[in-house]
Amino acid sequence: MPSVFQLSERPGPIAVLTFDTPDKKVNTLGRAVLEELGQVVAQLAERTDLHGLVLRSGKPGQFIAGADLNELGALVSLTTEQKRKALTEGHQLFDSVSNLPFPTVSLIDGPCMGGGTELSLAMDERIASTNPKTRIGLPEITIGLIPAWGGTQRLPRLVGLNYAIEMICSGEPVTPQKAAAIGLVFDAVPAEKLLDEGCRLVEYLRESGDWKKSREKRRAPIDNSLDQLLFSFACAEGLVKSKAKGQPTSALVALQSMQGGLTLPLDDGLAFERETAEEVIGSETSANLIGIFFMNTALARDRGVANDSLQPRPIQRAGVLGSGLMGAGIATTHARSGIPCAMVDVSEERLADGLARASKVIESRIEIGRATPADMVQMLSHLNTSISHAVFADADIVVEAITENEALKTEAYGKITGVIRPDAILASNTSTISISRMSKSVKNPERFVGMHFFFPVDRMQLVEVIRGDQTSDETVVTVVELARKLRKTPIVCNDCPGFLVNRILLPYMNESVLLLLEGAAMDQIDKVATRFGFPMGPIALHDLVGLDTAFYAGQVMIAGYRDRTVATPLLGQLVQAGRLGKKSGSGFRKFVGKKQTPADDPEFLPFLERNRTASRQISDEEVEQRLVLAMLFEAVRVLEEKIVREPMHVDMGLILGIGFPPMKGGLLRWCDNIGAQKILERAAKYAALGKRFQPTDQFVSMAKNNARFYPKMTM
Ligand code: NAD
Repeated sequence: MPSVFQLSERPGPIAVLTFDTPDKKVNTLGRAVLEELGQVVAQLAERTDLHGLVLRSGKPGQFIAGADLNELGALVSLTTEQKRKALTEGHQLFDSVSNLPFPTVSLIDGPCMGGGTELSLAMDERIASTNPKTRIGLPEITIGLIPAWGGTQRLPRLVGLNYAIEMICSGEPVTPQKAAAIGLVFDAVPAEKLLDEGCRLVEYLRESGDWKKSREKRRAPIDNSLDQLLFSFACAEGLVKSKAKGQPTSALVALQSMQGGLTLPLDDGLAFERETAEEVIGSETSANLIGIFFMNTALARDRGVANDSLQPRPIQRAGVLGSGLMGAGIATTHARSGIPCAMVDVSEERLADGLARASKVIESRIEIGRATPADMVQMLSHLNTSISHAVFADADIVVEAITENEALKTEAYGKITGVIRPDAILASNTSTISISRMSKSVKNPERFVGMHFFFPVDRMQLVEVIRGDQTSDETVVTVVELARKLRKTPIVCNDCPGFLVNRILLPYMNESVLLLLEGAAMDQIDKVATRFGFPMGPIALHDLVGLDTAFYAGQVMIAGYRDRTVATPLLGQLVQAGRLGKKSGSGFRKFVGKKQTPADDPEFLPFLERNRTASRQISDEEVEQRLVLAMLFEAVRVLEEKIVREPMHVDMGLILGIGFPPMKGGLLRWCDNIGAQKILERAAKYAALGKRFQPTDQFVSMAKNNARFYPKMTM
């Protein structure tokens, strides 16, 4: 491997160590890099002439991104011995950095993550650049690990326990300004001044002798009373547990590592950190989260078509038809991303409502400090409203988001086609209507596509890009690229009833109603689902999305998948009685204002009794298995029918679209973890309930061959 570290000198002499991995956009800490760093540090340790050392990246705006992704997967299959070796080697290396016989300063310009932060923590001081790309963090928690190359020991000793807990347990990186405020870096300066300031700091530390005192202090146990420690850890544990909602989280292990190690001298604290970290490296949760990390990376590069060289058309202006819940959200998203957008509705009143909704999105972001009044000005300056379609004349794309009614939509397409450029794309945000069928009524079906945003648009990251049977590759690539520009995650799927996410979600929703009618209690069903890791149970989800919406979507599923969708009259009856869920004050449950009443609603009982199919005790195990298996077997069909191209599209679609528990790694990865054979055994118990629990032939042969959806993670 070519050398990644270059040593040069500045007057002093001060050694300048430049980290620059050839032919890579970012610097990462893989095994070979660490080995080379070890050799450089050993050489430096012999130098008695140096005044100090500064470490910098040779890539402007890219410091150290963390571990080498190609080696991350290997963590999953390490033996205990290998884990110990990897941890010990890392500790020894960073320890030798921290013992260099002169002051050392890390110059951070760009993202500094994980091992990059731990390496910088092993140095005497750090200066960050004010480059907007600069962020310093320990995100290990997000992949089920803990910062175990000294992070849990060195960070609290530097910035104090509370800031360290906040950074480590959230995994969120901090800005250079915050880093300076909490003492993580000495200062934040413009990138072009980093080297000079770093060298000045080295000389200052050397002359003042401060670096020696500070090393001594940071080698000692942390400077807090036992009471303070106990209080901070108790609060942090409570917070972490409430956030985790019963799901495993490595944040608790990070807390243990801090709690056990900080009262000891640093060396013993580091030994404690190593022992604690062994518990999480290679755990199933960590493997699942690492799997998601890889899927996210792959998805960020996925263009949705086979032809790699096909270029997207530029989107400089957009139009949105409809200024309702979705239309206003979609238009705001364009405007916030700097794409001028024209929003059209049937009346000025509707447009005013839409505009008010758009402003509210930014206002609420300003309230939580995530946007500034300048963002509001920029958004509004990019958003134009009209009741005339003529404003779409110069748009590169028009997204239709009007009432879910096929005749209304196709009529609107006729009007839009009359004004838009012949090469403009027309996209529909429909949740249920066939894109292929609607494309028959548009002039340029190759430039007609589904662009399905989720509610609320500003918070939901997923966009399903639905190709109809005539949609061109160029249209798909362009919409995928646009969705990315809008900071969304696009997943391309072929047209089918329910598209990708709703097609898999609805069997789960429907199963919850069937379970209720067989005798399971609402609270039981919801509790089982949340214990599995879903953000809310399926009955609560019905009430939230609206029973009318669920009923209508259910009709589409019944029509599309008649062989395996069991219709119950309950939803229709509730809708007819005006019980639409939270928005109408009652659905399955009763609501007062926005709050659900704790007791069962007696007015719901007659509906339940009228539709009951059984009255038996149903175990939690059966509830969980039926809810998840109903989804899984539909997901398998989605893959077999090539609605999406890869298992990751199913898993990421569900994680981003409905909050399928990330700790499980996705629905298909969950199946892999259990094993297809075991899944078949579970499903056999419910086969008599109908085709929805009968596996496809392909799945049966997959189980026979011990095959998986994903290859096992190895080196
Ligand atoms: P909505 O009722 O809030 O808004 C619809 C808007 O369209 C209204 O302002 C209405 O005046 C306007 N409209 C109706 N006909 C029009 C026409 N011919 N020309 C111009 N404007 C017209 O509906 P919504 O919830 O925003 O849903 C819009 C679309 O988005 C539907 O296709 C729906 O299936 C889909 N969708 C909704 C959600 C959701 O959660 N609400 C999620 C994803 C997709």
